[in-house]
Amino acid sequence: METGIRNHWQNFIDDEWTEAVDGRQIAITDPANGQTICFVPRSGKADIDLAVAAARRCFAERRLLDMTPAARGELMFAIADELEKLADEIAKVEVHDNGKTLAAGYGEVKLTQRYLRYYGGMSDKLEGRQIPLGDGIVDYTLHMPYGVSAQIVPWNGPLPVGARSIACALITGNTVVLKSPEDSPLSLFLLGEACQKAGVPKGAVNIVCGYGNEAGAALVSHPDIDHIVFTGSVETGKSVLRAAAERVIPCVMELGGKSAGIVYADADLDRTAKNVARGIFHHSGQICSAASRLLVHSSIVDELVDMVRREAAARSVGPGIENHQMGPVISEKQLVRIEALCQAGIAEGAQVAMGGRRLERAGYFMPPTIFTGVQPGMRIAQEEFFGPVLVVIPFETPDEAIRIANDTDYGLAAGVFTRDLKLALWSADRLVAGQVYINDWWVGGVETPFGGAKRSGYGREKGQEALLGYVQTKNVGIRL
Ligand code: NAD
Repeated sequence: METGIRNHWQNFIDDEWTEAVDGRQIAITDPANGQTICFVPRSGKADIDLAVAAARRCFAERRLLDMTPAARGELMFAIADELEKLADEIAKVEVHDNGKTLAAGYGEVKLTQRYLRYYGGMSDKLEGRQIPLGDGIVDYTLHMPYGVSAQIVPWNGPLPVGARSIACALITGNTVVLKSPEDSPLSLFLLGEACQKAGVPKGAVNIVCGYGNEAGAALVSHPDIDHIVFTGSVETGKSVLRAAAERVIPCVMELGGKSAGIVYADADLDRTAKNVARGIFHHSGQICSAASRLLVHSSIVDELVDMVRREAAARSVGPGIENHQMGPVISEKQLVRIEALCQAGIAEGAQVAMGGRRLERAGYFMPPTIFTGVQPGMRIAQEEFFGPVLVVIPFETPDEAIRIANDTDYGLAAGVFTRDLKLALWSADRLVAGQVYINDWWVGGVETPFGGAKRSGYGREKGQEALLGYVQTKNVGIRL
């Protein structure tokens, strides 16, 4: 299939581009039509061994640590500049391996540059403390890097998610082995290229592609890694934690979500409908912090559902390259999973207000889907679709809304829509979620800490807090 993107991609290990040691490959599919577009390495334990050894050498030889913090920051700026030159290619690969629209592909580049520049600017600002212990003693703290940081990235936003973890690791002096997602690995190879051109020290960043149960499992159980950053599903996250427990190494866990938007009766409904539609249908709902549950006061439920349905119906669904507003989901497997959960909802007695079945056309297209008549205990109200499916649950009182919102295993994000600031803050206090959005889903950005509570994980990415996940405190006490 002619896409204009490279046919053949290689791992980036120890500043060189290499095939998988045993020559195996994975065929990458365009989710908009199911056709093979290119081949990437299907790496295994031997490739992970090489990458971890390269990262270890770089760390042991202090190739990053001997740079000043400011120079490490400059490196992030240089990577961001190199990405600019690759922007057209990145946008194209995001369309073809990930199903994004072209505009979203360019958006990923801009977002990634923001992460790199934000953390580049913080590189010389991570300061320790001096602790007063009285005459004759000087005591201070240092932020010590862990060493080799193993990073596992999901397919929905590989470039910004990968780049922000790499940036945090490098500016704090860690080295990285990143396992790219097998469904959409291409943009991370281009990040590797940008790192190389920017002059990142040999071995500081290694990017290896492969399946989770092969390359991923080999990486997180490798005896010579010191730290894990995992973004993905709860089930995989648990297996990663078991591997980490064997070696007692710290993890940053960014797992799934089933985030509730609470709409009180006094909310600006027009604005809320637009917001909720964006919150659940953007990138076809394949966002961990998607607004996947809509909790609505019973007095406005019919009106709001109608408005969200109109917003959804106005979105064109089709290949990103044709600049539709909603692209495909990532794979046949994911489409089957979403459809099966929809069927479970119907079997449990929920009503399909729109959508509910795949579009009959080539590719993996799920239309915007809305379920009404949903009970909080139903599977569709508890399990993550990771697709464009909204479930609507009515409530009567603020206490009931908070109880339903908090009543899942997840605790990633939550939203509140109201004109009553006191009610908004009362709700924000009680919602068990890493972030609460008030009157606008996804308020925040690169600067704001992001992460989960409960089974959504722990540790924070983004913002200043993220850096604390990449260092441990060392105290130095001196008797003069
Ligand atoms: P997944 O757990 O199947 O895969 C995530 C990554 O883990 C992939 O790179 C995969 O290859 C790898 N992996 C799979 N098995 C592994 C193993 N045994 N050992 C090591 N690595 C392994 O998740 P997915 O379906 O790719 O991504 C969707 C999930 O990720 C959703 O649950 C979503 O909510 C979550 N997610 C969370 C965030 C966040 O920041 N909280 C962001 C994006 C996605």
